[in-house]
Amino acid sequence: PTKQRLLVVANRLPVSAKRQGEDSWSFEISAGGLVSGLMGVKEFEARWIGWAGVNVPDETGKKALTAALAEKKCIPVFLDEDTANQYYNGYCNRIIWPLLHYLGLPHEDHQATTWSYESQFAAYQKVNRMFADVIQSHYQEGDVVWIHDFHLMLLPKHLKEYNKNMKIGWFLHEPFPSSEVFRTLPSRSELLSAVLMADLVGFHTHDFARNFVSACTSILRVKGTPEAVENQGRVTRVAVCPIGIDSERFTQAIELLEVQKLIKEFKEKFFGKKVILGVDRLDMIKGIPHKLLAFGKFLEKNEYCRDKVVLLQIAVPTRSDVPEYKKLKSQVHEIVGRINARYGSLDSVPIHYLDRSIDFYTLCALYAMSDVALVTSLRDGMNLVSSEFVACQDSKRGVLILSEFAGAAESLGAGAVIVNPLDLMGVAAAIGQALDMPAEERDERHRHNFEYVTTHTAQQWANFFVR
Ligand code: UDP
Repeated sequence: PTKQRLLVVANRLPVSAKRQGEDSWSFEISAGGLVSGLMGVKEFEARWIGWAGVNVPDETGKKALTAALAEKKCIPVFLDEDTANQYYNGYCNRIIWPLLHYLGLPHEDHQATTWSYESQFAAYQKVNRMFADVIQSHYQEGDVVWIHDFHLMLLPKHLKEYNKNMKIGWFLHEPFPSSEVFRTLPSRSELLSAVLMADLVGFHTHDFARNFVSACTSILRVKGTPEAVENQGRVTRVAVCPIGIDSERFTQAIELLEVQKLIKEFKEKFFGKKVILGVDRLDMIKGIPHKLLAFGKFLEKNEYCRDKVVLLQIAVPTRSDVPEYKKLKSQVHEIVGRINARYGSLDSVPIHYLDRSIDFYTLCALYAMSDVALVTSLRDGMNLVSSEFVACQDSKRGVLILSEFAGAAESLGAGAVIVNPLDLMGVAAAIGQALDMPAEERDERHRHNFEYVTTHTAQQWANFFVR
């Protein structure tokens, strides 16, 4: 039998294109959870549809890129620069994204841009239409369409209008907030009723799914249960399916000679010290200032630890031209400087802070050699860093300190030390608890989470949702 065809639709294609000449392109594959999840699922014949992340103004370039992408089973949606800007940097990143993470809607006066809410939403509508057109021209009867994320909430409606038999799933990788927060969005009804045209909608946690159902029932006045929403006789199933990681990619990497060498180097470098690791995009939702301040409180209370513990924080640059992110960066630098100045000595500083991304092998080595991972997200859809740390810790059995506001807390809660990142003294105490934890307890906690991470993989997640 031929394989089930799957059209995977997301804002960005899994490859980034770079123009090399008039009609030649090079590609870089991005290895997020979605990509590795679907690459591991062999029973589907997947096609990817999305924006290639570049502006291609000329027809020659578009043709060449389309042909080159076809070899990678990718189909591009071309967006002109202004539309892409207002849709992506505007409506998606400055309006919906903060709202989903409880950061509220920006006041137009506070937006360092001349775009109005209406013009950003118009760009969002236009882009969702353009995606629908591309999908329609590639759709074959029997295809399953899997739409990802808040960028494309209007898409299920457009597609069902085109063909009511199309099988459509929509998955949200972010939190879905309380309905009291979601209802502040001017276009709340339009977005919700469009999403409900999907046959299946998926979320990482029960809380997010419940918030979604409750937003539907209170805003649209439709009927809802934890498993489904009914709108004018149409039933949309609601599923909870947390994404996983490709755990073998990590367990195999740390066995490599190259990575073992890095682990040894880091161990020598931090000899005699306990290492607490933080790996986050430099984003408001990650609670990096809170993490640093809590670590400062820990040092304040535990004088004898000041030269025996180091917080190694990797802050991966993200959206760095947005004013709020620039502000966050200088705020974080200021806190790091203050804590290092106060608690450092002539030969050691307590916070080792890097404003950059690191390569995969270095990341694996750091995960493997650290004693503690510290995740203080104020809101986070899932947080894959937590799972990646667990996957790399099978010989060391370090402790994961995890925010209760990360989706991962629902699945890794039994093995992690759970904290409220806004309770700085609580986080400081958790750091002490993690560093002093008896080997037996570490063992038990680790075993629990390792078992979970290696059996609830990205492949299983994708497989489960599509089935
Ligand atoms: N990561 C990366 N470069 C780095 C450090 C981390 O690509 O320098 C990866 C990390 O391995 C993880 C992802 O970035 O897979 C972060 O995912 P997470 O769910 O923790 O947070 P997000 O950034 O998606 O909010």
